[in-house]
Amino acid sequence: MSTVEVPVLIVGGGGSGLAASVFLSGHGVDHLLVERRADTSRLPKAHYINQRTMEIFRQYGLADDVAERAAAPEQFGKVRWQTTLTGQGPLDGRVIHEMDGFGGGALRETYEAAGPVLPAKLPQLRLEPVLRRHAEERNPGGVRFGHELVSLTENAAGGADESITAEIRSMETGETTTVIARYVIAADAGRTVGPALGVRMEGLPALFDATTAYFSADLSQWWTEGSVITWFLNPYRRDLSSALIEMGPTWGKHCEEWGLHLPLAGIDRTDEAAVVGRIREVLGLPDLELTLHDVTSWSVEAVLAERYRHGRAFLVGDAAHRQPPAVGLGLNSGIQDAHNLAWKLAAVLSGRAGDGLLDTYEAERRPVGQYNLGWAMSAAANHQVIIDAAVGLGPHVPPERRTPAFFSYFSPTPVGAAQRARAAEIFATHRGECQALDVETGFAYEQGAVVPDGSRPPARSPLGDEYRPTTRPGHVLPHAWVEREGRRVSTHDLVGSGTGFVLITGADGAAWTGAAELAAEKLSVPVTAIRIGDGGEGAEYADADGDWQRLRETDGAGAVLVRPDQHVAWRATGAEADPAGALTEALALVLGHRAP
Ligand SMILES: Cc1cc2nc3c(=O)[nH]c(=O)nc-3n(C[C@H](O)[C@H](O)[C@H](O)COP(=O)(O)OP(=O)(O)OC[C@H]3O[C@@H](n4cnc5c(N)ncnc54)[C@H](O)[C@@H]3O)c2cc1C
Repeated sequence: MSTVEVPVLIVGGGGSGLAASVFLSGHGVDHLLVERRADTSRLPKAHYINQRTMEIFRQYGLADDVAERAAAPEQFGKVRWQTTLTGQGPLDGRVIHEMDGFGGGALRETYEAAGPVLPAKLPQLRLEPVLRRHAEERNPGGVRFGHELVSLTENAAGGADESITAEIRSMETGETTTVIARYVIAADAGRTVGPALGVRMEGLPALFDATTAYFSADLSQWWTEGSVITWFLNPYRRDLSSALIEMGPTWGKHCEEWGLHLPLAGIDRTDEAAVVGRIREVLGLPDLELTLHDVTSWSVEAVLAERYRHGRAFLVGDAAHRQPPAVGLGLNSGIQDAHNLAWKLAAVLSGRAGDGLLDTYEAERRPVGQYNLGWAMSAAANHQVIIDAAVGLGPHVPPERRTPAFFSYFSPTPVGAAQRARAAEIFATHRGECQALDVETGFAYEQGAVVPDGSRPPARSPLGDEYRPTTRPGHVLPHAWVEREGRRVSTHDLVGSGTGFVLITGADGAAWTGAAELAAEKLSVPVTAIRIGDGGEGAEYADADGDWQRLRETDGAGAVLVRPDQHVAWRATGAEADPAGALTEALALVLGHRAP
């Protein structure tokens, strides 16, 4: 048995673990990732990559590779409810309702203003190989698929050589390796590390069961492209209702692979012929040629870890929170957890911050996890209401009223028009799921590695569909396009991967340049001062359209201190009498050198 010592061990090579590996490499942190499976996910699973995650991918040089394979918002930015995929009857193939979602259609302008990159659609089975390739290229030999964590022991507390000892086994040879790590990132969806450490998950462990069939078929004759998901509300039989999702690799009518959420009551899901028959029945295509790749039954949960930090182990992704897929917050928040943790581990391991900085991971990310979980639950419940209420159905409506309700809905009469208008208002509440930009990007850290300035957060729209950018500490740095030597970059691009802190000031902020140098020297932490001006002398970047001035909430002599994860750490709304002192104090608080 060999022994390896490494600063960070990542357990799990799903989306969260692979992203954590890329981020740690960006910060120059040596680490080892172990993943039990021989390869990345065989199942499509999560397919919506929200704007904040794409911004993070952009920061780490992943966004182009992802976008190249992904569907763009114009290819998936609608949600559609339809009766059936096809059929000859008067109720078949009818669109019940359609709305813009996830940055598509009329939402595009809003999303373009909110960030330097748009959301994308790429299922996990296509995303994870991209993440894996980047993780392996950036950490050669440090990403081991086909290796599982078998056991975990925390070594004696208190000493400088505190560590965790892990036993790793090769799935191929059975050979074991002892890994001694300073810290562990549990990205194993709660399978091993949590149980080993006694992590308590709070909430509802089994909300309901869902079944997804993953298959290849040519549906180009019948499929209306452009939706992230199409819900089929079958007008004849409730038990034939389903939802169909493009899984690529081609997007649109000629998509080759599909995910179908379908009811399989009374069918043995290991009986391939029976499942194929059911898919044909649900799609209304009795002769459809298809290849079934997999059928998964998964239990939808709503659980949150009581603690995100257990000694030297940190839970990220599904290990920390598992929720209904509504809003697509699962994988996205897992990647965002890893993003929050990576720079902190780098700061602590390089001696620039004390271990206390790592406590802020839980202080910052657990409230976001809790919020997201509640949001996903409520969106999922609302979705169920929409399905029934909009068409005039519901559990109280007897089965024989089902088809008449659909005839009534589509009837060219004043009653039909009223029903459709009423339905449109009900469907509009779905924007809390498919237009929830503020939920995706407007989250903030109220306490943790930030210096609150006493200001109140911007009011949040109740349905989460209005994102209001702000430089208030804890929030994501507002995006604005600025220019340098004719090149347009986002304010986000000023905070590169692994570049440390950035201090953004204005045309009158010359004093902050020296202050940043002094603070950086005093605390041995990289701080880059950048002036965004009106194109005049001294400013590195020009605020050509005045966007930054509109968003910065400081005057030209103020400054905004941005953390390596693009969240605002501190701000001075105007000139400071002692800028170096103020900045040093703020940085010391953020890095945990001083108590707040
Ligand atoms: C049908 C479906 C649709 C979904 N849709 C969306 C969506 O649209 N958007 C969204 O954001 N989320 C969605 N989700 C949720 C999303 O798939 C999960 O949130 C996501 O997979 C979590 O990623 P993760 O890396 O944290 O965990 P996982 O992807 O589960 O990865 C954990 C990894 O850890 C490995 N592992 C476990 N134990 C060990 C061990 N002892 N040693 C080594 N390795 C180990 C596992 O093999 C696994 O690869 C969906 C989920 C499902 C099932």
